Amino acid sequence: MSGAQAAAGAPAPAAKRRSGRPSALSLFARNQLAAFGAGLLLVILLLVLLTPLLPLPDPAATDPVNRLLRPLAEGHLLGSDHLGRDIFSRLLWGTGVSLLVGLSATSVAAIFGSTIGILAGYFGGRADTLLMRGIDMLMAFPYILLALAIVAALGPGLLNALFAIAIVNIPFFARNIRGVTLGLANREFIDAARLSGKSNVSILLTEVLPNVLPVIVITVSTTVGWMILETAGLSFLGLGAQPPAADLGSMLGEGRKLLITAPHVSVIPGVMIFLVVMSINLLGDGIRDLLDPRLKSGALARPAPFTAVDRPVSQLAAASIQDDSVLAVEDLRTQFRIGSDVYRAVDGVSFDIQPHECLGLVGESGSGKSVTALSLLGLVATPPGRIVGGRVLLQGRDLIGLDAAGLRAIRGDQVAYIFQDPLTTLHPLFSIGDQIAEAIRCHRPLSYKEAWAAAVTLLDSVRIPNAAGRAAAYPHELSGGMRQRVSIAMALANDPTLLIADEPTTALDVTVQAQVLKLLDQLRSRSGASLLFITHDFGVVSEVCHRVAVMYAGRIVEIGPTEDVLSAPAHPYTERLIACVPRLGEPGRRLEAIAGLPPAVNHLPPGCAFAERCPHAEDACRAGEISLDGLNDRHLVRCIKPRRAAS
Ligand code: SF4
Repeated sequence: MSGAQAAAGAPAPAAKRRSGRPSALSLFARNQLAAFGAGLLLVILLLVLLTPLLPLPDPAATDPVNRLLRPLAEGHLLGSDHLGRDIFSRLLWGTGVSLLVGLSATSVAAIFGSTIGILAGYFGGRADTLLMRGIDMLMAFPYILLALAIVAALGPGLLNALFAIAIVNIPFFARNIRGVTLGLANREFIDAARLSGKSNVSILLTEVLPNVLPVIVITVSTTVGWMILETAGLSFLGLGAQPPAADLGSMLGEGRKLLITAPHVSVIPGVMIFLVVMSINLLGDGIRDLLDPRLKSGALARPAPFTAVDRPVSQLAAASIQDDSVLAVEDLRTQFRIGSDVYRAVDGVSFDIQPHECLGLVGESGSGKSVTALSLLGLVATPPGRIVGGRVLLQGRDLIGLDAAGLRAIRGDQVAYIFQDPLTTLHPLFSIGDQIAEAIRCHRPLSYKEAWAAAVTLLDSVRIPNAAGRAAAYPHELSGGMRQRVSIAMALANDPTLLIADEPTTALDVTVQAQVLKLLDQLRSRSGASLLFITHDFGVVSEVCHRVAVMYAGRIVEIGPTEDVLSAPAHPYTERLIACVPRLGEPGRRLEAIAGLPPAVNHLPPGCAFAERCPHAEDACRAGEISLDGLNDRHLVRCIKPRRAAS
């Protein structure tokens, strides 16, 4: 795209991007137990499906002369039973019957149970009371006794056993699905569907059902094995398959009297029940994992307590720098590896923060600001995150590669975080006083009483009215601004040398935002801590930051004193970002959006990553690596045609 086109606001042609996500099949194959279960079940199903075509004896044909033959006897691969019937033939036919009955019972229970659950959860009120009290009545009896009672009433037989097992399992589906539907019934997208004039039937079919379907599938996959076992149990007691028909349960029941004299008659169907149920359960667990959206992202393992480090040995041996910086970040590289794709979220970031200084880190969403901040203390989740290069020197000590104990000693003590939304970071079940006291006691040997007193003092310092009384309040009892003050108090609890604030005022309204910013700046000046302030708001930067670093596609593209960068931005990206900020007293000024989208960090273009959106781009911009060069000793820019130099 030419520069003129970009200047005219034409969107950049979107490069075809691969999703980078592993396919469902490859995710499933990674789960070895599930793959084993699927393979085993496939073999069993193939055998069952091919049974009518195989040259097997009639499973019901008796032969008293050849009764109780051992396995591998001539003409009988798995021997014969007490009536001389071929066990292999009966086993294959019986497995087919057991699978058919178990799957049918599961389907009946899933259809009726899920329908009851969806209706009760969606309509609530009387419908919910009526339906769920009926379900409670079913659940009031031990389910196997209830199944026996139903078969006794209907009479023995496979079909009646199927109904009995299905009926006793309906409550399981109904309760599960009602719970999920209850959570959905008052969500905004359901309200929007109602407002659009959709009928209840339409909402249930197009809005609710697609959302509960994964839960139904998961429930089916994890219960079908259990249902097959229950059906076999009824047949074992003589209430299911009736002679001469056979299923695995009835074969087991017939062989139990011969357990000592001819154990193979009962052991063989027993082993088959075990294999069928185990394979279905393993497969069900695999399907459950696959349908979990968090696991779809490729994070099949639990995140480690700190980010994995995989950096070159030469950097491990590098000597610590000796200067006055509180923090010096050198060539930091953090990647996310998902499937075969490598996302270079932080790609060679370097900056320093001096004592008492506030450095602003600015950029669009996805530019790598937060990942940079999280990488400093190893807080990026592994998998898929990994630090692959660089150093993070806190007062000369390299933090990358520290073990869990080393990082724990620094987190919340020398370096503290203030996050964007305190409601998600404060514990909902502990009072704010308890949470601040705990933060203090993690790093200082104080009694609970002393820590509580310190917590009250801290709450007072962040101007919480009636701090002593409010310390016993829970997070939900405070306003958004108050909660953020509590977060600031908690961050200052151990007099950190470095504070990291990740968009701490984004969730607040403008008035409260101004109060919190002022307070943060005053407390930082008073305590002498340095501050790394992450934001996308240049107005906030001008209020609190001494210097500002602008990030784009995982790299710093401009860094310098706030005044210089704001008054004369050198990088076209910074210039366009500042042009987007509304100014008081200029009502007619047009706010220019930046055309196009940032590049995907798993497919960065060669040369300048901003070239596709830059109105000044030329061929040389795409030719190769562009370094961060100094306009003067404090102001650096990553551009071959810096704006200030050009003008
Ligand atoms: S190097 Fe500078 S002029 Fe060239 S595309 Fe990048 S930002 Fe634009």
